[in-house]
Amino acid sequence: MSATTSAEELTIGAGYRQAIQWIQSGPKRLLVGGEWVEAQSGKTFETLNPATEETLTRVAEADSADVDAAVIAARRAFEAPSWSALSPHARTRALLKMADMVERHADELAALESLDNGMPLWYSTAMVNAVVDTFRYYAGWPSKIFGTTNPTESSAFMYTLREPLGVCGQIIPWNIPLLMAAIKISNALACGNTVVLKPAEQAPLTSLRLGELIQESGLPPGVVNIIPGFGPTAGAAMALHPGIDKIAFTGSTAVGKQILQYSASNLKKVTLELGGKSPNIIFPDADLDRALQAAVKTFCGNSGQVCSAGTRLFVHESLHDEVADRVSALAGTFKVGSPFSPDTKLGPLISQRQLERVRSCIDAGKSEGASLRQGGSRVGDTGFFVEPTVFSHVANGMKIAREEIFGPVLSIIPFKDEDDAVFQGNDTDYGLAAAVWTRDVSRAHKVARALKAGRVWINTYGEADPVMAFGGYKQSGTGREFGAESIEAYTQTKAVLLRL
Ligand code: ADP
Ligand code: MG
Repeated sequence: MSATTSAEELTIGAGYRQAIQWIQSGPKRLLVGGEWVEAQSGKTFETLNPATEETLTRVAEADSADVDAAVIAARRAFEAPSWSALSPHARTRALLKMADMVERHADELAALESLDNGMPLWYSTAMVNAVVDTFRYYAGWPSKIFGTTNPTESSAFMYTLREPLGVCGQIIPWNIPLLMAAIKISNALACGNTVVLKPAEQAPLTSLRLGELIQESGLPPGVVNIIPGFGPTAGAAMALHPGIDKIAFTGSTAVGKQILQYSASNLKKVTLELGGKSPNIIFPDADLDRALQAAVKTFCGNSGQVCSAGTRLFVHESLHDEVADRVSALAGTFKVGSPFSPDTKLGPLISQRQLERVRSCIDAGKSEGASLRQGGSRVGDTGFFVEPTVFSHVANGMKIAREEIFGPVLSIIPFKDEDDAVFQGNDTDYGLAAAVWTRDVSRAHKVARALKAGRVWINTYGEADPVMAFGGYKQSGTGREFGAESIEAYTQTKAVLLRL
């Protein structure tokens, strides 16, 4: 197994060559008011290929001065008739055009994502397909966002309007960069807002390429502004900015709490999509083959760097040892390697820092007395690769069961009965997702209701569809993305009364 990207194993297709060409094509700047500009400070930062640890390119580094400029551009665009007077159908057409642009450049975008983030090419390809679906899903909304006519006495007429919020600041993480950008941008635009988007500093490239495609699609300048930069500088400046009406943030719970505090400065509307430690509960009457396949797929997917990953696998105590054996054996067959090798299941983690964090969690699992059944080590010495790692006999109070690890580490936890499974499943600070596996239809629905999580799957794990709202109970966040709930999150209601 080679952790580096050797020329022979690359599935070098046209998309890969186009991605490299684009990377080398010139400086990577900020998109502000329809222009590509250097940061006002002149500063740049590097983004790595986490499989090789090589610098891919340098990117202009936004800070508060650039945030100011982007907010002014977004405000102008919000008020300009070229955007504000656009009919709902025209907004639909604009979003459909963006979907077509992404679809046309799908191979290039997937390769670019795999280079900058390290996810396997098959995974980035699936994410780009989800991006296209997301733009098309939100393209359907503009003509379906409407208010009500309300009961009043006969000499009055009252109705409501659903109006956009204004300038939306969007701060996204590095784990699934392009899809995160697409969800946030298309949701905001469908509702008539304008956007200042800050990609994560570890993987900004696909957001910048998306910015170019959005421009080519003919969107008025300033409607979407894209400003890579660091969290404590550019990100904090956005959350504090008096000219931003809403912040949508996806990232860690710790930073989410800071965003909420910063946003109090001008009472921004806030949606937060934060961490998770999701329970995946298998009852003895489940279809075990399917359940175990899904259990391994979810904790290994994107090398575990997925907020809704099923990282606590609850199994009935009668099944614990069998499940531990089978899950470990299956995880052991998941190949770790180059994102561009066709049989790779897990690419690298995003960074040295993430690798260290994952290794320290694995050490904590060992020292707290969980039994390490599979993996546990770094792979190779170049690139941030780590083996799929399985612990059994985990107690729900251990660090590896409490903290979001964001790496391919599974905790198998035994339960006694249904009540115990639900109690332990809910015994967490988080509440992003959950799953239950059983052939008993009553138990399936009862447990789905009892689990305190924003998304619950029955006899499947991780399936996503833009019609299915996504967001957290408890410290997994506030507000929802996707579904009708996300339209509420980007609009506000005006009640109008006319005296006849
Ligand atoms: P991680 O620790 O996994 O990198 P973060 O929550 O730190 O996750 O990062 C998610 C996003 O939040 C990134 O775009 C990052 O730049 C941004 N960010 C980090 N710290 C802050 C902050 N103090 N204020 C605003 N944004 C921040
Ligand atoms: Mg990178």
